[in-house]
Amino acid sequence: MLWFTEYYGGEGMDLKGTGLTFKVRSAFSKKTRYQELLLLDTEDWGKVLVLDGAVQTTERDEFIYHEMIVHPACFTFVRKIEKVLVIGGGDGGTVRELLKHNPLSVDMVEIDREVVEFSKKELPSISFSLGDERVNLIFGDGREFVRDKEGVYDLIIVDCSDPVGPSKVLYEESFYRDCKKALKDDGIFVTQSESPFAQRRVHRQVVKELEKVFKIVRPYLAFIPTYPSGMWSFTMASDRLDPLGAAPSALGRLYREFVEKNGNLKYYNPEIHYGAFAIPNFVYMEE
Ligand code: SAM
Repeated sequence: MLWFTEYYGGEGMDLKGTGLTFKVRSAFSKKTRYQELLLLDTEDWGKVLVLDGAVQTTERDEFIYHEMIVHPACFTFVRKIEKVLVIGGGDGGTVRELLKHNPLSVDMVEIDREVVEFSKKELPSISFSLGDERVNLIFGDGREFVRDKEGVYDLIIVDCSDPVGPSKVLYEESFYRDCKKALKDDGIFVTQSESPFAQRRVHRQVVKELEKVFKIVRPYLAFIPTYPSGMWSFTMASDRLDPLGAAPSALGRLYREFVEKNGNLKYYNPEIHYGAFAIPNFVYMEE
């Protein structure tokens, strides 16, 4: 029997002697131009996509990450969402959730074409929306892509990996400034912002840099069993729209209309929308 362990301890990781182990039925690996891609067929988590040794997504718990990177922002808009930009997101789960809000178009800029091709083939329940006619796939560096964009997008979602390799530039203040420029005045920016428990320094840095750029910055949490420590965060930022500003009655109505069209979600609901923004004290305590 084969076992795979993700050893924590890379760049930005506060845990240095911990890992997460999966019982594996079969494994396939491949070196792409940008990273080491590994697909595991596991006993408990279905197929698991691993990039450079770090678990990116599993068939069993991907719904939590993908619902939570998309729906809190989408339910903060009271108007129709027209143009969306996703940076990274090669497995397609973020686009799948976005399309439930019926945007006019989604540009997805992914640096590694092979992650997209591989996910289309091996992870169809996650990637099936990537072929939708509203989705424009662009293969390139998301950092470069936003540089010359102005006032184009309602929503920008950064669905990237840890701050090493090609993702590193997606954690910098200058990138956040370009994203703000690429947004409409009432646009919203969302990024995954690492584990406040296992990568607390990186999480705090993301929030700090975003606070230099946007007027409203709201980190929020979700429980994701296969990410380091299970405690995961995202951060939403905007100059105009506050996710906590939405009236519960209006949000409840929007959510009921959404469920009538799309069926129920598995993690996000209006109570989660408000509760996710409650952050335990230790996260921002000084040492
Ligand atoms: N859910 C994941 C997590 O937090 O572990 C992220 C998943 S997604 C597969 C991350 C993607 O970001 C990868 O496919 C990687 O190729 C892509 N990526 C990394 N740096 C990028 C960049 N500068 N521009 C565009 N895509 C990038």
